[in-house]
Amino acid sequence: MEDTDSQESSKVVTVNIEDLVKDGRNKYPVVCVRCPSRILNSNAADYKEIEFPLPLMTLAKDKIRNETIDKENLNQFWMVADKYGFENVGFSNTVSGLKYLTCADCEIGPIGWFDPASQLSYVSLSRIKHLS
Ligand code: ZN
Repeated sequence: MEDTDSQESSKVVTVNIEDLVKDGRNKYPVVCVRCPSRILNSNAADYKEIEFPLPLMTLAKDKIRNETIDKENLNQFWMVADKYGFENVGFSNTVSGLKYLTCADCEIGPIGWFDPASQLSYVSLSRIKHLS
């Protein structure tokens, strides 16, 4: 992948979305990076660019609650309108007013977050795999 963060002060991972977005939605099903668990069907989420610091991925679900864990700024997400829009997903306990999303099967995460106030979920494009 080409260098995209030379102008940024913080590390931002950028995914090339050209072939991933169709009519503003996800063209391909979304699965876990580590196991075959299907997180989203195709056309189930809207593409959104917003900046959000997400704790680094860990295999231990309990660690996600640890607020001292390092974060990375992410800015490309699949927005899911409600939590029933997922095929499979796990939710952490509430941390600072939101819940982190994890793989429902292997529990790797966070892959994104869920905002209980708006009921919107955001899944980071850099933390999942697209089935193309
Ligand atoms: Zn998994």
